[in-house]
Amino acid sequence: MLQPAVIDGLAFARNAAVVEGRLGKELLPRLAQSGCSDPALHFVLTGAFNERGEPGLKLAIEGSVRMQCQRCLGSLDLQLHLEARLEFASSEAEITAAEDDIERVVAGREMNVAALVEDEVILALPMVPRHEQCQAAAGAEGGGKASAFQALAALKRSSVSEG
Ligand SMILES: [Zn+2]
Repeated sequence: MLQPAVIDGLAFARNAAVVEGRLGKELLPRLAQSGCSDPALHFVLTGAFNERGEPGLKLAIEGSVRMQCQRCLGSLDLQLHLEARLEFASSEAEITAAEDDIERVVAGREMNVAALVEDEVILALPMVPRHEQCQAAAGAEGGGKASAFQALAALKRSSVSEG
């Protein structure tokens, strides 16, 4: 599979080129800074013209990252199913000045594919990651911090009592 690290943005759109691949943590350093570990992402990047006739990119991302639940402090696997449309802009200033809801990115001759994927994932991360239902909620609710260790212990206890 052809998997270039960079694309020439405008040529990529004009040619309706497609690149897909998998990314792990080696190529996603900013995700770690955003509190994610173990990212496993599959992406499909497509060059396209949008309904306004402007060149840009379509980016689909499937995968998961691990974060820390801010309620029980246990680990939280976040499933990602993202689809973004990005219109090319000629400068950051143009993006800042735009007053619509269109998502834009500065077109370049050497656009880093992993960084594009990373940007979309970072945008999609919850401000406060939390389990819908924490496994250790009963123990953690009363105050004090429940560690991932305690969460694991609670899990083990409940599986024993079920048996
Ligand atoms: Zn939790």
